[in-house]
Amino acid sequence: MKIEIKNLTKTYTGGFKALDNVDLTITDGMFGLLGPNGAGKSTLMRILVTLMQPTEGQVLVDGKEISSFRKEMRKMLGYLPQDFRFFSKLRSWEFLDYAARLAGMNSKRERGERVEEMLESVGLYEFRNRMANKLSGGMKRRLGIAQALIARPSLIIVDEPTTGLDPEERIRFRNLLSDMGHSDTIIILSTHIVGDISSTCNQMALLNEGSLIYNGTPDHLVELADGYVWRAEISQAEYESLKSEVPIISTIPSGGGWEVQFVGEKPDRIDAVRVDPNLEHAYVHYMDNKLEHWNLK
Ligand code: ADP
Repeated sequence: MKIEIKNLTKTYTGGFKALDNVDLTITDGMFGLLGPNGAGKSTLMRILVTLMQPTEGQVLVDGKEISSFRKEMRKMLGYLPQDFRFFSKLRSWEFLDYAARLAGMNSKRERGERVEEMLESVGLYEFRNRMANKLSGGMKRRLGIAQALIARPSLIIVDEPTTGLDPEERIRFRNLLSDMGHSDTIIILSTHIVGDISSTCNQMALLNEGSLIYNGTPDHLVELADGYVWRAEISQAEYESLKSEVPIISTIPSGGGWEVQFVGEKPDRIDAVRVDPNLEHAYVHYMDNKLEHWNLK
């Protein structure tokens, strides 16, 4: 499958441009859309799932404009929105059964089997009789992904799925997402959490203030930060001056002063050693320097 996003712009009523001329091609595999809150990620997701029309531009799936086959498009789609809510009166299994019926699975036997299979694969089988709204936050998110996957979609879109989860649930959810990737399936994961991307995605894009500012592999983004991550032992006075110049990403007390890591250009007066960058460093560095420094476009 191939999704082509061409010159996509969304201007909300009132004139606010949430997406500005976005061009992006997404192919099979796990794709991460990373950006700070307000970057335009949900807007892009809502256009992709045909809940919203762009102001300008097009989205093509395997060469066909999505608004021309919205019904079929929704059939091939599994969507977990950011603000996913459950009907309060349903047990977990009933909720999935309902989702399966909505997705057009008419055979009761087939539905029953599929619901059990999904409950097992998201680790909720023993909670199948619990009311959906009584599950913990992480379990709700897993039930949400189960409903998105119930009809074996070939395009899966999950919007900020790990927000608010504790670290253990976050890792569990990421593993669940990684396990879902099959050939001929696209999974798009939108997030403002760098760790979601580094542990799951082979392709990614960075969105900021409605503009696409990077599209490529996470590894390449990390390479671009090589030479811009530093570790230094500094005094309190040096710390005060350094923090106004560069983003300091970690601070550990050390013999009356601080051991810090920072990203960006090293000031000459600071004695520092280079550190191998990771995706988090690359993201901070990029966001601090924007396009001028990286010249990615
Ligand atoms: P993200 O998902 O990256 O946090 P969103 O797509 O939700 O970003 O929002 C992008 C920008 O568009 C934000 O500044 C937001 O306030 C604005 N926005 C979102 N929805 C609407 C709307 N219905 N009307 C006006 N502005 C909106």
